[in-house]
Amino acid sequence: MVRMARIYPLSAAVTLGTASGCLGWKTFRNPEPRSATAAFAENRTLVATRLRPVNMLQYQTLPVTPFQQNCSIVWCDQTMEGAVIDPGGDLALIRAAADRLPVRLTQILLTHAHIDHAGGTATLAHDLALPIVGPHPGDQFWIDALPQQARQFRFPEAKSFTPTRWLHDGDTVQVGHSVLGVRHCPGHTPGHVVFHSAEAGRAFVGDVLFAGSIGRTDLPGGDHATLVASITQRLWPMGDETVFIPGHGPESTFGRERAQNPCVQGT
Ligand SMILES: [Zn+2]
Ligand SMILES: [Zn+2]
Repeated sequence: MVRMARIYPLSAAVTLGTASGCLGWKTFRNPEPRSATAAFAENRTLVATRLRPVNMLQYQTLPVTPFQQNCSIVWCDQTMEGAVIDPGGDLALIRAAADRLPVRLTQILLTHAHIDHAGGTATLAHDLALPIVGPHPGDQFWIDALPQQARQFRFPEAKSFTPTRWLHDGDTVQVGHSVLGVRHCPGHTPGHVVFHSAEAGRAFVGDVLFAGSIGRTDLPGGDHATLVASITQRLWPMGDETVFIPGHGPESTFGRERAQNPCVQGT
């Protein structure tokens, strides 16, 4: 059982209800922190999102760490090769989910290097001999600070690491026969990237955008205007119908957020 602690997620802004819109710095109101085990049990019924029977990127999302970070396992349903996006912690749960699918994990993908997204990276990479792909080099200082982040937020010990491959805007990542496009989306952190599967109509956006909110920008390297520019210039072109998997909370579509999210409404 993971000890529950009241701590502030490194995640999202929440609209404070001002007429001027989103202030972009308050703590995202996730559900109360719960043990990852309990959260996983509750979410078990979500199972894998099966998009089409064959020849399509598939994924399963499981909330990990006391911050309920949406770690996703993505895989090619032809080869059953898979990647873990953002293994922030609760590695036993992640490995059990991969085994159950069953998916053969071949790489770790990182959106950014906050502890709830990257805390388990070094250990998982070591234990399964996996390459670490991403984030963008702008997050080097957050990777270096992982041990300190772990102490500050009362996470299990976390090691820093050197990515096997840094990512840049316009790169692609291959998962089996599926290709994920990479967009650099700074603003929440300087080196934040998102992964886009055009074939599946899905985007894994970390803490850039949430259903009803956007990432917080008060942490080192954060910048509100840069974040909004990332969202409008690099996410919106993926299309209104694209379903995004945020770093915390439920999925939504870009179209719905453009219409309803007070932080980016009308953009
Ligand atoms: Zn987060
Ligand atoms: Zn974050």
